[in-house]
Amino acid sequence: MGLWFTEKQTDNFGITAKIEQTYHTEKTNFQKLDMVETAEWGNMLLLDDMVMTTEKDEFVYHEMVAHVPLFTHPNPKEVLVVGGGDGGVIREILKHASVTKAVLVDIDGKVIEYSKKYLPSIAGKLDDPRVEVRVADGFMHIAESEKAYDVILVDSTEPVGPAVNLFTKGFYAGISRALKDDGIFVAQTDNPWFKAELIRQVYADVKEIFPVTRLYTANIPTYPSGLWTFTIGSKIHDPLKVKEDRFFEIDTKYYTKQLHHACFVLPKFVEDLTV
Ligand code: SAM
Repeated sequence: MGLWFTEKQTDNFGITAKIEQTYHTEKTNFQKLDMVETAEWGNMLLLDDMVMTTEKDEFVYHEMVAHVPLFTHPNPKEVLVVGGGDGGVIREILKHASVTKAVLVDIDGKVIEYSKKYLPSIAGKLDDPRVEVRVADGFMHIAESEKAYDVILVDSTEPVGPAVNLFTKGFYAGISRALKDDGIFVAQTDNPWFKAELIRQVYADVKEIFPVTRLYTANIPTYPSGLWTFTIGSKIHDPLKVKEDRFFEIDTKYYTKQLHHACFVLPKFVEDLTV
């Protein structure tokens, strides 16, 4: 009789994983943090009983949130990650030699601490000399930044608790100010099956601020519904107009040059959220 964990993705539906062992569980100053070993997905980080990342499928999300904007920008040097305390997005950012500084601002230092301890394949690059880790509110960091970054990636939890401000029009306006004149940002914007209105609202807000706004998707089996969206806002560069010679060989397991374009082809019910 093993232990099983169910993430309730809605009041009526969830996913269940067999738990081999619980490494750590605590109520931090911001959220409930669980680090467990699962039979199917390897080690898994949960925050407020929601799957954040797993050793087995993390590469999909981290590659797609990072490489689509980083290949879209012609020469990304300074990059900011809001959230992202598990370190996966930072690992992907550092695959771009043009990046000289990657700043990570996560509000909860415990996420960083336990990701380093139990998710070394994901968090292993947080101590890279190009990385600057700050434990702070990403909303405040954005408010204090001006023309500082080429690319900003919002890798936050769902719009609850400490992340509620990270899905507002005011925050996206702040991101625009924090970006350089040809800056690009991407936010993870949840799933179209259970959070369609969130996607619709965020897309409409971003479109009012950024001349180039697009939505793209990826398949993430341990996230709610398995179909995940990302909203990209760009001041100049269009992700669908990247020059052929901009792409270079990169060590990935999901992202490819072809998928860079194909991920913007949306199912009709998802495309309807962008009109
Ligand atoms: N990839 C996951 C997803 O799509 O749900 C997110 C993973 S990452 C661990 C989410 C991080 O956002 C957490 O570490 C959390 O502490 C951080 N976070 C939430 N609100 C924040 C805020 N206001 N400022 C900075 N980080 C925040």
